[in-house]
Amino acid sequence: MASPGQKVVLITGCSSGIGLRMAVMLAKDEQKRYHVIATMRDLKRKDKLVEAAGDAYGKTLSLAVLDVCSDESVKQCINGIKDRHVDVLINNAGIGLVGPVESIPIEEMKKVFETNFFGVIRMIKEVMPDMKKRKGGHIIVVSSVMGLQGVVFNDVYAASKFAMEGFCESLAVQLLKFNVTLSLIEPGPVHTEFEAKMIQDVKQKEYPGADADTVHYFKNVYLPSSVDIFETLGQTPDDIARCTKKVIE
Ligand code: NDP
Repeated sequence: MASPGQKVVLITGCSSGIGLRMAVMLAKDEQKRYHVIATMRDLKRKDKLVEAAGDAYGKTLSLAVLDVCSDESVKQCINGIKDRHVDVLINNAGIGLVGPVESIPIEEMKKVFETNFFGVIRMIKEVMPDMKKRKGGHIIVVSSVMGLQGVVFNDVYAASKFAMEGFCESLAVQLLKFNVTLSLIEPGPVHTEFEAKMIQDVKQKEYPGADADTVHYFKNVYLPSSVDIFETLGQTPDDIARCTKKVIE
């Protein structure tokens, strides 16, 4: 439980990558300014986080189950927090999807929107009333450079992030008078499971029917040089966590 004066920070998707590092960095803040509720959909995936958190686990870091695709899970998680009080909500959970549109079933595309778009909205809907009532709070959304610029074979993923940016830009205006800030973090390529899966998928898939030049461009030009193509906040999860911590401070 948070001590007096500590900000309650809830982060989604803390089993790996950027969310895990954000949780650890904030929980290990030298001035102990934060109590981090690190959430994940399956607590069987907690070991890496618990190990990285070290002494902070059980003190400035606690765990909770949360699947952003489930209304019930989101409600249960927020109801489990004392007074439903969250000072900082970090919407980090997200999934990717790579390939030519013709070969991807609509159901897989819907899953991307369900997680990256509606998952964030579900969380915001649940914490916003309390933030408005208290006249204070900070909502952070981990978007992507692909929320600003489309990339070949990332059509649906980029669309989910574009949609999120439109939602956030509009909502941010409404929240201003309640002293609630909404910030977008837009990383370029970051070395995480997400990135590894994307590269593996691309290498393995043949993309029958897709234009050969486009496949060649994506596999041989875009992927090997993507870090240079996009200006990035840094390439490691720690870089993104550090940037997010600065945004909160
Ligand atoms: P990881 O795959 O390492 O982490 C994604 C996290 O999201 C995992 O903890 C995963 O949990 C969780 N997650 C997925 N679906 C759900 C769900 N339904 N409910 C709750 N949690 C869920 O990827 P990253 O750390 O790289 O990604 C984090 C964010 O950063 C994403 O929003 C991504 O779009 C964004 N991003 C990543 C970039 C990159 O190159 N890596 C670049 C730009 C943006 P589980 O273990 O259960 O699967």
